Amino acid sequence: MRRTLVLNAGFEPLSTVSLRRAVVLVMRGKAVVEQSHPGLRVRAAQVDLPVPQVIRLRRFVRVPFRQRAPWSRRGVLVRDGYRCAYCGRRATTVDHIVPRSHGGGDTWLNTVAACAQDNHRKADRTPAQAGMRLLVQPFEPTPADALVLALELRDGEALPEWLSPAVPAGPATSGVSVPSAA
Ligand SMILES: [Zn+2]
Repeated sequence: MRRTLVLNAGFEPLSTVSLRRAVVLVMRGKAVVEQSHPGLRVRAAQVDLPVPQVIRLRRFVRVPFRQRAPWSRRGVLVRDGYRCAYCGRRATTVDHIVPRSHGGGDTWLNTVAACAQDNHRKADRTPAQAGMRLLVQPFEPTPADALVLALELRDGEALPEWLSPAVPAGPATSGVSVPSAA
């Protein structure tokens, strides 16, 4: 899959994102295209844009000093853009790839966003056992990934707790307060 490099407002590389996420960031005015594929364009309902190779954020973001993003269900949904890893439709649930009953844990690499239907269908089985295929590979977000993902949220959407920059690395259970528009 095509990845787009994301630069901070000061041109420092931050992260890479999927083409879809890059287009969303540009469409929402969060980023500008710095470099695009010659001759390739993204065309959809309201979009006609050169395929971005490099985008740059309009506003500088401060990357939190934190080694790892604590896992949360909401974090998984945000990471996966609320898209089901099995069918690509809107996801509202989190699936454990290896079910918890088989020893699968609450980790970034063992969980994906899933629609309720696919989650129900997969039930207490691995994707192979259920004859289902993952369309995307789960990944562990870095703090920079987390910030870039947060920029995709619409104004007024609350940030997941693992995006708070104010908390030093520590247990995910600490009381993290995140500014969110109610
Ligand atoms: Zn699905």
